[in-house]
Amino acid sequence: MAAFTLENIVRNNIKKLIPYSSARSEFEGEAQIFLDANENSLGSVLNNNFHRYPDPLQKKLKEKLSAVKQVAVENIFIGNGSDEAIDLLIRAFCNPGKDSIIICPPTYGMYEVSAEINDVAVKKVLLTSNFQLDIEAINEAIDDATKVIFVCSPNNPTGNLINNDSIIWLLKNFNGIVVIDEAYIDFTNKLSWSHLLNTFPNLVVLQTLSKAWGLAGLRIGFAFASKEIIQILNKIKPPYNISESVQQLAQQALQNETLAKEKTNILVQQKERLIDDFKQFYFIQTIYPSDANFILIQVNNAATLYKYLLSKAIVVRNRSSQPLCENCLRITVGTPAENDDLITTLKKYSNEKNLC
Ligand SMILES: *Cc1c(COP(=O)(O)O)cnc(C)c1O
Repeated sequence: MAAFTLENIVRNNIKKLIPYSSARSEFEGEAQIFLDANENSLGSVLNNNFHRYPDPLQKKLKEKLSAVKQVAVENIFIGNGSDEAIDLLIRAFCNPGKDSIIICPPTYGMYEVSAEINDVAVKKVLLTSNFQLDIEAINEAIDDATKVIFVCSPNNPTGNLINNDSIIWLLKNFNGIVVIDEAYIDFTNKLSWSHLLNTFPNLVVLQTLSKAWGLAGLRIGFAFASKEIIQILNKIKPPYNISESVQQLAQQALQNETLAKEKTNILVQQKERLIDDFKQFYFIQTIYPSDANFILIQVNNAATLYKYLLSKAIVVRNRSSQPLCENCLRITVGTPAENDDLITTLKKYSNEKNLC
């Protein structure tokens, strides 16, 4: 395979694209009177300052994020959730009806959905039985049309980290984009792959405020990549993809890293406690190790247990339809009280099922 060059991999129409130039991006500086953007000069109907368009490149937010994540501002893209970054990556690099991505099920569902929306083919190379990458099979699946490989680590729904060696292999040998989705990285002690951006020009790392930072409702996700890749994402994103209110709240959030870490520690402790408690139940056959804030378990009958929990107002995720996940439920770690309730309910289920 030829070596990776961005030139070879960006779609031609994107290369040629002259991006929309917004009023806010054309004028940067100090002015008193803003008559350039057709905003409402009389102000907002709410008692705040949201009558102006937000900063299209979220400069202040990126500066805060840069300090927290140790990633240079020029290497940061901010999206309306990581889901926006996933979609933009596919659109930047994959020609509809022609190119393909590789995903490794069981894994996060949005890679496939985004590809399908964009009429991009999805090649599936299953994880091995211990939920690691099957590098030989991936190597065979790669062809000239393969532009992006998505790797989720820690993986959703299995919960495990993907081995360094296989990720390094991909970064070195695949001449397309390797996306490492680190939505759950903050629940591990592992260093982010973002520290290797200078070594691997084809590396894109995804992170989010939705999990460890407790801000799924804000819709803030990050892509960390080379300056050149970030420029492409900026070129094709909707100009004002992050609202002013969300930019402000996200900046506040990043000042509370200590609190995020405290919450993360509690969730990790609670996860260990749940794993211990699960061991007493005869109907739980496998408790998969987890580096995230959820646990995948294999039970004797996932549909029955799922319905039972729902009848007690507890909703978990039935992942049984995913390959390698037969009879598997994915359970998010709750508050200590919610976890107590879950275990009490599982005990009831255990007793009721033993009787009949
Ligand atoms: C939750 C999750 C995300 C987060 O997506 P957002 O759009 O940022 O909320 C991304 N990837 C994976 C694997 C996830 O589980």
